[in-house]
Amino acid sequence: MSGLFDGKVVFLTGAGSAIGIGRATALAFAREGARIAAVDVTVDDLAETVDLVRTVGAGAKAFQADVSKSAEVDRAVAAATEEFGEIHILVSNAGIAKKKAFIALTDEDWQRTIDVNLGGAMHCARAVAPQMISRGSGRIISLSSLMGGWWGWSEHVHYNASKAGIEGLTRGLAMELGPHGVTVNAVAPGFVRTAQSMSVEHSLGPEGLELAVPYVPLRRIGDPEDIAEVVLFLASDASRYMTGQTLLVDGGVTLGDLGSVFAQSS
Ligand code: NAD
Repeated sequence: MSGLFDGKVVFLTGAGSAIGIGRATALAFAREGARIAAVDVTVDDLAETVDLVRTVGAGAKAFQADVSKSAEVDRAVAAATEEFGEIHILVSNAGIAKKKAFIALTDEDWQRTIDVNLGGAMHCARAVAPQMISRGSGRIISLSSLMGGWWGWSEHVHYNASKAGIEGLTRGLAMELGPHGVTVNAVAPGFVRTAQSMSVEHSLGPEGLELAVPYVPLRRIGDPEDIAEVVLFLASDASRYMTGQTLLVDGGVTLGDLGSVFAQSS
């Protein structure tokens, strides 16, 4: 097999969701020859991701870790390095969205979302940075959201804050790691059809997603592959002079396509 990422090792968190951005990203990297250290807190679907990656012909192994716990992340990074050799690309994709009205939000609700979404990205970056610094190269890519730098999300202030934090982490880390040849960027998806967005309890649910379509200039909900391809761009040599950036991949929804509102006023 010859591909864009031949010989590269990707440490990818949140790889265990059957219809998630993580699995799509693992498969996209695998098709380009990368070996995948697939990380998740849950194991069943993670094993399936690994099997699918191997079907593509690439190396993969599952590592169970809760990214909110730095000791578990450190152990997973050490085990992945032992298995595959040095890690070239970190993709911090693991994330949670839990709906809770602000006045009902407990300290535990707040802390869990911050610890998984923001703490997880920090723990992973801190664990892989030493080998990237000593090698003088590396790519760190984290998943933000249009809720990080663009929109507010009622009953999800903890999610909003965690994703805004990802963008600050990205800028600060880009400053510190840039002189060592390591780029640090983020991808901010809009509405993407995954387990997270399909949750009726915690997000839009399938019907809510369909209601959003007319407000998306590209007139469809995103697929996980739409995000995966942009992650690969940020991991590739094509983005070598970019760092500290968050790329919004939202089908144009933040352009403010209010459709009939403007049609009536003209
Ligand atoms: P998903 O729920 O399908 O997948 C998330 C994965 O993260 C799951 O496999 C889950 O088990 C894992 N995970 C959760 N907590 C973890 C922990 N503590 N440690 C390790 N793994 C953990 O969600 P998705 O939509 O594929 O989301 C991927 C990323 O993209 C998330 O960071 C999410 O916030 C972000 N995002 C998604 C959308 C969307 O519309 N789907 C929009 C914007 C941003």
